[in-house]
Amino acid sequence: MSVQKYIHKVMKSTMESTPGQAEFYQAVEEVLSTLEPLLQAEPKYDKYNILERIVIPERQILFRVVWMDDAGKIQTNIGYRVQFNSAIGPYKGGLRFHPSVNLGIIKFLGFEQIFKNSLTGLPIGGGKGGSNFDPKGKSEGEIMRFCQSFMTELSKHIGETKDVPAGDIGVGGREIGYMFGEYKRITGNFEGILTGKGLNWGGSLARTEATGFGSVYFAENILAKRGDTLEGKVATVSGSGNVAIYTIQKLYDLGAKPVTCSDSRGMIYHEKGIDLHTLKLIKEVERKGLDEYAQIHKDAVYIPVGKYPEGTNAVWGVPCDIAFPSATQNELNFADIKNLHKNGCILVTEGANMPSTPEAIHYMMENKIMYGPAKAANAGGVATSQLEMSQNASMATWSFAEVDSKLNSIMKNIFNLSYETSKEFGDEGNLMMGANIAGFRKVADSMIDQGAV
Ligand code: NDP
Repeated sequence: MSVQKYIHKVMKSTMESTPGQAEFYQAVEEVLSTLEPLLQAEPKYDKYNILERIVIPERQILFRVVWMDDAGKIQTNIGYRVQFNSAIGPYKGGLRFHPSVNLGIIKFLGFEQIFKNSLTGLPIGGGKGGSNFDPKGKSEGEIMRFCQSFMTELSKHIGETKDVPAGDIGVGGREIGYMFGEYKRITGNFEGILTGKGLNWGGSLARTEATGFGSVYFAENILAKRGDTLEGKVATVSGSGNVAIYTIQKLYDLGAKPVTCSDSRGMIYHEKGIDLHTLKLIKEVERKGLDEYAQIHKDAVYIPVGKYPEGTNAVWGVPCDIAFPSATQNELNFADIKNLHKNGCILVTEGANMPSTPEAIHYMMENKIMYGPAKAANAGGVATSQLEMSQNASMATWSFAEVDSKLNSIMKNIFNLSYETSKEFGDEGNLMMGANIAGFRKVADSMIDQGAV
């Protein structure tokens, strides 16, 4: 069978056997379509049925989460943990609490995680989880009761050498704390079963900053290859959560000027540069909407989502040199990339998971816009989570500078590996292909070594 036919066959059976999972198909298609040159060169992946196996999670757990709201009413949500692939290490990947969460979304994120974790060079497998619980507007007590109920079931499936979840959208230090406390209450064990923990109880310095910092380090490497730097570059950033905030912080550190941020309700354009202090206050402390930012900074423009130009994300209509989508999946479409291109953008680095639509990615490739794909560019978060696991296992505490320096080297290594692999397979500089092949090859070879499991 030709390689194209093999890929097509696996895509088709995936869609038939798991209906209604559009984001998952998108993630699978994106990876499989770039593996062609590797599959041509190495028939063993077909021989050992690797594609058929790699698109099916080793295990997926779906559970009921029941909790009581402040009015004394019983509420229900659905919890998920998808343990996708443990060929190179224990499952590792975040938990997302957002009303849009369903099995297809968790599977897309878990699938991406397999290759991302492999690229870090660290011994971690791929997994992801979460719930359709919406933390917005909930009281502290409600958040705590939800997290405790969620962990009551999740605790049966995780473990230091088995599966170590972390945060993602809607899950930050507060939620990790409530879940960790509940795990300890249930099992009686103080164990590193979650990452993103508080610094007083097993967390790692620089974990909070890691995904955003890592994404900027990745961009720095891409530019360096062209003899360019971040100094003086105008950057657009979407999102205003963990990834976006620390992307903005590191952009300033390296001499760039971030001028936008956004949330689910609207976006801010601040031409003289986003004020990091105000942003952190509104989002990390007060947990409010970005409209507050424009109340404080009268020279900033706030555009609510309903007022975005038809079919576009207003963040990508702002002129910039470099763009960092850092909110959510499919937030940068064909119209958006055309806007960015028209306004002179030369590089898109993905802080969020799968933020660019396939049409937008195709446009970047055709028009030679430099592209840092999520799997590689945002891998700094999970890499630093693994550094947290290492510190927990050895009961050590590394300084901020030590962790940050390891993060910086890991991002450089991921860039080099993706770049060199793109060269090896005849499309130098195509980092999407390089990252997918490099991430896949290590996992697939490990699966072959481990036999029919
Ligand atoms: P947060 O919950 O901290 O922030 C998410 C941000 O995106 C918020 O500003 C949120 O707005 C906005 N947002 C979420 N959903 C939507 C939507 N549907 N439309 C518009 N805006 C939206 O999450 P993170 O910063 O941790 O995660 C952001 C992205 O980065 C996700 O794709 C995640 O998977 C990815 N990622 C995160 C890592 C991490 O270490 N945290 C690691 C690797 C990838 P609002 O404030 O209104 O909710």
